Amino acid sequence: MSQVYKGVYFIPGQDEFIPDSHVYVVGIPGSNDLSIVDVGLTGKGEYKAGSIRELGIDPGAVKRIIMTHTHLDHIGCLTEMQKAFPEAQLWIHKLEADLLEKGDDRAVYGMDMFKGMCQMQFGLAPEAFKFAVDRKLEGGETLEIGDMVWDVIHIPGHSMGGIALYEPVAKILIPGDVVYADYAIGRFDLFGADAAQLKESLQNLAKLDVDILLPGHNQIMKGVPSEYIRKTAKMWEPYLA
Ligand SMILES: [Zn+2]
Ligand SMILES: [Zn+2]
Repeated sequence: MSQVYKGVYFIPGQDEFIPDSHVYVVGIPGSNDLSIVDVGLTGKGEYKAGSIRELGIDPGAVKRIIMTHTHLDHIGCLTEMQKAFPEAQLWIHKLEADLLEKGDDRAVYGMDMFKGMCQMQFGLAPEAFKFAVDRKLEGGETLEIGDMVWDVIHIPGHSMGGIALYEPVAKILIPGDVVYADYAIGRFDLFGADAAQLKESLQNLAKLDVDILLPGHNQIMKGVPSEYIRKTAKMWEPYLA
């Protein structure tokens, strides 16, 4: 757990045979209005919640959990985290929120083979991913949360309801699994993925001035070179036609 910037904390994922997403906590300490961005893989709730408590954060100060998208490695421990942070609302992009409310878990598992494997591995019930969503995001919102301002950008392609959060003062981008360090991008073969949309989303992110990149996995980047996302998008374009 470390502070990346004032009001932005990083809890690294603990990968096992399935990856566990990073968690970011955003909001100025003392605002009493903190947000958790993504929670991580099934079984990781204790580690994630414990890491947040170690920061001295009162669980009651966590007002919402915002999902960049609902793949299992990001949403798997949501039930555990909702127990640890009972006041937290759940905010998700409409396209994936609508599925979760119906108990449709195709966007969680991505493919049937993976679903069967995970249900067995984690002892997950068929209805494990049915959730009420408090706020359905669409992209284009400006969130004034935790004494900070974050823009919501809809970036489909890796998943249909993927969002990025962007903080324009410190130029911080939280893009979920759409773009990573080392010129990597998210996969585009799972349920709801779309290569052409991913290309367009990367092009949209490339328009942003980004200094700190906080992806869902692997290294985080500070002092992101200018044009980094544009170069990454360009590199992948031949595969995203
Ligand atoms: Zn993902
Ligand atoms: Zn992921």
